[in-house]
Amino acid sequence: MRFVLGLTGGIGSGKSAASAWFETQGIVVVDADVVAREVVEKGQPTLKQIQQHFGDWVLLENGELDRRALREHIFKEPSARQALEKITHPAIRESIIQQLDTADSPYVVLVSPLLFETNQHQLTRHTLLIDATEALQIHRASQRDGQTVEQIHKIIQAQMPRAEKQRLADDIVLNDGHLDHLYSKLEVLHQQYLKRAMQ
Ligand code: ADP
Repeated sequence: MRFVLGLTGGIGSGKSAASAWFETQGIVVVDADVVAREVVEKGQPTLKQIQQHFGDWVLLENGELDRRALREHIFKEPSARQALEKITHPAIRESIIQQLDTADSPYVVLVSPLLFETNQHQLTRHTLLIDATEALQIHRASQRDGQTVEQIHKIIQAQMPRAEKQRLADDIVLNDGHLDHLYSKLEVLHQQYLKRAMQ
């Protein structure tokens, strides 16, 4: 099994910044959020399954998924979320595995905000947590997305607690300084991962 690094962190922790840095080193990054969107694109079998399960109302006139309608439906009916995840999760997992397998780099990164929550860490050999204090998370995410402090706080509350992620991760990088500081910490780990990938 090839060396797959699972990269995770709460909202605004710096996952995307870290992913982008790994890409500059020639490491292929598979983003679970991107895959989750790909599998429900127009023409994908998963979208057809969602339509068959929920009805034609899940599609917009142009044949694309009506995300907002589905989100509202799931919000009202928690059992619908389970039904949806039963359809989407295996498809996401299969596509992730395929992309990890075909990636052409010394090792490969799987970045996912829900790495531990969705058991995607089982697809990885080693995990890295990009860690930040809640205050920093809120500051960065609000600057990036223009969301209110309350909205971001809610998202943080819904994610796995920081301490739990710290307990589960093999490596932890505290992203509390300048970006250059983050990159130099990643550089040290990258050298270790390259070595391990060759073993
Ligand atoms: P995530 O992907 O974990 O939600 P991002 O990598 O998008 O987080 O980081 C959130 C925001 O904070 C982005 O705008 C990013 O450029 C910025 N950021 C991340 N780390 C740092 C840092 N060490 N110093 C300054 N800004 C940072």
